[in-house]
Amino acid sequence: MPKFSQASFSKLATCHQDLQVLFYEVIKHFDCTILEGYRNKEDQEKAFSAGNTQLHWPHGKHNRQPSMAVDVAPYPIDWKNTKRMYWFSGFVMGIAQKLKDEGKMTHGVRYGGDWDGDKEIDDQNFNDLVHFELIE
Ligand SMILES: [Zn+2]
Repeated sequence: MPKFSQASFSKLATCHQDLQVLFYEVIKHFDCTILEGYRNKEDQEKAFSAGNTQLHWPHGKHNRQPSMAVDVAPYPIDWKNTKRMYWFSGFVMGIAQKLKDEGKMTHGVRYGGDWDGDKEIDDQNFNDLVHFELIE
């Protein structure tokens, strides 16, 4: 069974309990790596400059403590393989729905490849294919 590296474990620990519950379930079945949980001001502005977010500090869900967002990629990371990211996200969203239905998570989850949650992926202005956030 896959498990998180110490680096992934530490990043996930900065996230809301629901995201921890979710990805501790996901990792049992689908190997993945936690890229980022909480982002401080410097990290958020770096992400903005790199075009990885459209939000300045402190408006991102990564800027809360605990973080209401987490960036996760299927392992091993291959940034060109977006199909695999979508494949992974479908798996994550299915597990998230199940955990919410079972009362093990209190929030729903929004994916950065389907911001409006309509299950269409071609109606997006901005894709963030590794981003999962809690809906408030
Ligand atoms: Zn993100």
